[in-house]
Amino acid sequence: MSVKERYEVIKSRIKHACDKAGRSANEVHIIAVTKYVSIDRAKEALEAGVMHLGENRDDGFLEKWNALGDKPTWHFIGTLQSRKVKQIIDYVDFIHSLDRLSLAKEINKRAQKEIKCFVQVNASGEASKHGLAPEEAIEFIHQLQSLTNIKVVGLMTMAPLTEDTKLIRNCFRKLKDIQKSIQSLNLSYAPCTELSMGMSNDYEIAVEEGATFVRIGTALVGNENSEVEK
Ligand SMILES: *Cc1c(COP(=O)(O)O)cnc(C)c1O
Repeated sequence: MSVKERYEVIKSRIKHACDKAGRSANEVHIIAVTKYVSIDRAKEALEAGVMHLGENRDDGFLEKWNALGDKPTWHFIGTLQSRKVKQIIDYVDFIHSLDRLSLAKEINKRAQKEIKCFVQVNASGEASKHGLAPEEAIEFIHQLQSLTNIKVVGLMTMAPLTEDTKLIRNCFRKLKDIQKSIQSLNLSYAPCTELSMGMSNDYEIAVEEGATFVRIGTALVGNENSEVEK
């Protein structure tokens, strides 16, 4: 299937999940995660109508940005080392992996404008996953108040790698609950209207549970590392 065809399939599945949940599909933005694919494949996604691109490493991010420019909306979705912030900060629209104060301070210092950030929460509690523990999220957000270049637009999580859809759903629900408690604080720097959750294997569940940004790699643009036989 071409990227265009896969994009149509994903959009129709998202529409279906939205119908099921009584949501509008306009609320859900699809980020094509291009970390496993070439510049050409990323271009195909843009030509298919994808507006958002995501990368998880600074070198891959800059490589794609240099080739594709500022027409797409750019998302940095991976773990971000503080020393890498200055390389990418002028080119990112959204950072999905804000998970510690030292990183927030570095972003705030290097940014020339307000940066839209997702606070990453380890909602599944898996030891291998990055992000704040759910009970730490609110305190963390209070600590960001004086960092005027940081806007907390939402929360991000990664579901556990499991076939158990109940566990996955619970993880997304937990993120939604945390979002509600943050929204109830009415903090101008943390409107927290967005939820970045859902990947190739679980985006429909994420959409049913309130995702506004899904981050889809393999199912949308493929993985060229595992397509070598073609
Ligand atoms: C790689 C990655 C994705 C996309 O993964 P797929 O399973 O290929 O859709 C989404 N989010 C993050 C943070 C990633 O690193």
